[in-house]
Amino acid sequence: MSAIDTVIQDLVIANRILAKEEVADAYGHVSVRHPDNPKHFFISRSLAPELIEKGDIVELDLDGNPVRDEKRSLYLERFIHAGIFQMRPDVMAVVHAHAEDILPFGIAKATKLRPVIHSGSFIGSSVPVWDIADKFGDTNVLVTNMAQGRDLAKCLGKNNVALMRGHGFAAAARSLIEVVRMSVYLPRNARAQLRAKQLGGKIKYLSQGEIDARNRGYSPYSTETWRAWEYWANKAGCSHMLTRPEQPHEHKK
Ligand SMILES: [Zn+2]
Repeated sequence: MSAIDTVIQDLVIANRILAKEEVADAYGHVSVRHPDNPKHFFISRSLAPELIEKGDIVELDLDGNPVRDEKRSLYLERFIHAGIFQMRPDVMAVVHAHAEDILPFGIAKATKLRPVIHSGSFIGSSVPVWDIADKFGDTNVLVTNMAQGRDLAKCLGKNNVALMRGHGFAAAARSLIEVVRMSVYLPRNARAQLRAKQLGGKIKYLSQGEIDARNRGYSPYSTETWRAWEYWANKAGCSHMLTRPEQPHEHKK
């Protein structure tokens, strides 16, 4: 199987995982940058993530236009992905979804979403909130053009996650596995933070030192990273599609 085929297959797995883990429902999407052409990315045509197969994946440029003739409908909000890939050359994969548990943090200005559990550390210490109304006034609240996609990407800045007021979130990472993991743990972190708040008293967040320590310990090819991907893929019924990437030399001394 070619490198591109593997990437497309991994993208199908990523879609199925996000559906199974209830990060995405009929809506929500995940994309991955083309491994050989950083000016293109792969994403599904307009379809619920649970139903996506390899033939549904399309290749778009960084303005959100298909690079080949495409008669099928595309996601209205593909500009979220195009905007982030345009403005963040370091980002290889993007998720946008509407997971319910994160929504209160995009609406209530008094409480910021922050890492409170170890698996939530990867969302980073700062999670900005993007309000489409700030620049674009009354819209249908969806990101339907490049100006909006770029404005969201600007708000995301160098962070890993941005919340979108009254709508959902956008997450960006260096790999598909990483962005899926972040998107799965993001609503869990939000739930833990909300429940802790209900218990009352002061919330103890992860410290910057703890967040940094967890980031230092992260390796995209480690057994621990693969373990979660394999588990989620199996649970989503697509373990037969798994291709484990080549192990880097880090263990060969
Ligand atoms: Zn959306």
